[in-house]
Amino acid sequence: MPQVQSSTKAKAPHAEIAGAGYVGLTAATALRQRGWTVRVHEKSPELRQFGAGIFLWENGLRVLEKTGAAADVFANSVQPPVYETRFQHKTVSKETFGPIRWRTMTRQNLYSAVLEAARRAGVEIVVNSEVVSADPEGAIQLASGEVLKADLVLGADGVGSKVRDSLGFKQTRTKSRDGITRLLVPRKKAELGPGEWDNVIDFWNLEPRVLRILYVPCDEKNLYVAFMAPREDTQGSRVPLDGDLWAENFPELRPVIEEAAKLAGRYDGYETTVLEKWTTGKVALIGDAANAMCPALAQGAGCGMMNAYSLAVAVSGAQDLEKALRDWQERERPTTDRCQERSAYFAASRSMSKGNQFTPTMLETAMYDVTGSRG
Ligand SMILES: Cc1cc2nc3c(=O)[nH]c(=O)nc-3n(C[C@H](O)[C@H](O)[C@H](O)COP(=O)(O)OP(=O)(O)OC[C@H]3O[C@@H](n4cnc5c(N)ncnc54)[C@H](O)[C@@H]3O)c2cc1C
Repeated sequence: MPQVQSSTKAKAPHAEIAGAGYVGLTAATALRQRGWTVRVHEKSPELRQFGAGIFLWENGLRVLEKTGAAADVFANSVQPPVYETRFQHKTVSKETFGPIRWRTMTRQNLYSAVLEAARRAGVEIVVNSEVVSADPEGAIQLASGEVLKADLVLGADGVGSKVRDSLGFKQTRTKSRDGITRLLVPRKKAELGPGEWDNVIDFWNLEPRVLRILYVPCDEKNLYVAFMAPREDTQGSRVPLDGDLWAENFPELRPVIEEAAKLAGRYDGYETTVLEKWTTGKVALIGDAANAMCPALAQGAGCGMMNAYSLAVAVSGAQDLEKALRDWQERERPTTDRCQERSAYFAASRSMSKGNQFTPTMLETAMYDVTGSRG
């Protein structure tokens, strides 16, 4: 029989969270800072991220400032001077984003910062702990059979969320036609020869075949390179990378491609998940569990952390938690929905290849402030 543990004796409200990704940990920290006791369950044995890079924008950086993770993130990331787009080897745009901050970093650096902030706040994190289902009355069940009660349950367990699927949330999931192999390699600036190699450079070729390389400096040592190819292109989507194919199509990046081809790599597709609702009873979904999006606008994690933070603010001190969750959903959903739609449009049309695509409309999410700190 599952063992039932109750949190009713505790004075502080208690949250059980599935998933110690960026989003689950951000929610945990923000709740703990507001007096909650919080336990996060991570199914993996280790708390870490794979070797790739990530962009964060103003919206996500503001949340990190509130949760206490920003100093570590700023110390281990860069704001590249320019986001350059090259189409068929010609520069078609060089974008800067005015007052909107944006930073690039390794996923591990971001993760370490978010994890340390959670630990400093006093969040309990349990590894090897898989959540298999949730109850809208306020409980989760673990793979071990144990049932844990809570005032609030969060499903932050990613795109394949068991919390979501155990509750039968209605959803549509649309897979994109392209996928990406993401890797971290040494910067190789000297070998690349003269050029503005501190820029982010988005190299697009639609002819003779669809191939794209996103070149992203993360710090002095690490370069994040993402190799995009259609799913149907077996040679382009092969891992380890076909170094000859990529170097033939992007000769200017040969030294970097040679490094990337030495690594095992993994080719990931991406998808848009749209749910009818994000919350039922005392359970809410956040991050990729609720709204996975294509990576064109580089907002999946940023948007998830934003919603995690605003949820913590919404439920803290609320007289009626379920109503607070519904109100939070109503308030935050439109921005996230639009971000998902725009990201899906870019993925389907590949129109980022034209350059100058980060218009104010496309930067709406980057400028969205859930922290109330915009001066
Ligand atoms: C190619 C690509 C590029 C991207 N680039 C960017 C970018 O530049 N900027 C950006 O903001 N976003 C980017 N994203 C999106 C971003 O990676 C995701 O939105 C983000 O990682 C989602 O975080 P999460 O915490 O919701 O989920 P996840 O990162 O998936 O974390 C979920 C955690 O839950 C754990 N877990 C899963 N199931 C269970 C369970 N049943 N019980 C317990 N634990 C469980 C997992 O092991 C994992 O640790 C990109 C995505 C892709 C595919």
